Amino acid sequence: MLTTTEMKKPAAMMRPLQGRTALVTGSTSGIGLGVAEALAREGATIVLNGFGDRMQIEDTRQKLEQTHNVAAFYHGADLSKAAAVGEMMDYAKAQAGGVDILVNNAGIQHVAPVDEFPPEKWDAILAINLSSAFHAIRAALPGMKARGYGRIINVASAHGLVASPYKSAYVAAKHGVIGLTKTVALEVAQANITANAICPGYVYTPLVEKQIEDQAKAHMIPREKVISDVLLKAQPNKRFAQVTEIGALAVFLASEAASSITGTALPVDGGWTAH
Ligand code: NAD
Repeated sequence: MLTTTEMKKPAAMMRPLQGRTALVTGSTSGIGLGVAEALAREGATIVLNGFGDRMQIEDTRQKLEQTHNVAAFYHGADLSKAAAVGEMMDYAKAQAGGVDILVNNAGIQHVAPVDEFPPEKWDAILAINLSSAFHAIRAALPGMKARGYGRIINVASAHGLVASPYKSAYVAAKHGVIGLTKTVALEVAQANITANAICPGYVYTPLVEKQIEDQAKAHMIPREKVISDVLLKAQPNKRFAQVTEIGALAVFLASEAASSITGTALPVDGGWTAH
């Protein structure tokens, strides 16, 4: 809620997301951190989540507050556990009055042929990449409905639209995220709540760096060749997207201008899924 003083400020001094709270899962690193920074720049209060070194996370939280003049909080929920997702949402409500912009971004990857895919990796990927989004959305919707505004932004993947070999759990989870996005969009279409999926191709982050290393080992080829011949093979523009590009799209989807955009899966993939 905007304070009376903020409401009296001239429009030019108001930032578009001032008065909104954004919770970004998996925002201690990579795309999530880029999205959190972009939303903070527009004035949103931020709730961070994710794993990592506690000192570094506290440093990130403080930098967000100081750089963007917003309040920033952190909850370290392990999103593979439904109860922990609930605790994180309760924390966001207690600290920041509830979640207006929910960015379900946390994700993990494992690469192996289906018949060798470890079942525990399958379960973890489905829990973190798909089920955590369901649990968070379920908890966020009542508050969004009550406040008459909500933006659900699910970071899916080009792998939510097309498949690649050896990524069965990831591809299944990301296709599931797009199905969940569409269903939620239909259910809340008249409540000024939108639900959209962002579908990046390759974005340069620690998750991708690990894939470069893993693939280099698997194929016994240098990392440059992994980048050009394996990872970016299907990506026509032959460049990694930057986390700032995903952040900019999240800001747009959270804006009033995007009020009629809902139920979509928006590729940011250099043309990959145009094939
Ligand atoms: P990353 O590894 O840099 O960041 C992942 C984040 O998720 C980290 O903050 C990590 O701590 C958090 N996380 C992991 N497991 C968690 C758990 N159990 N509970 C809470 N947090 C957990 O990865 P990234 O590349 O920034 O990917 C972010 C999202 O974007 C993922 O959903 C990924 O599938 C998707 N994506 C990434 C790319 C890419 O090229 N990087 C492409 C398409 C989609």
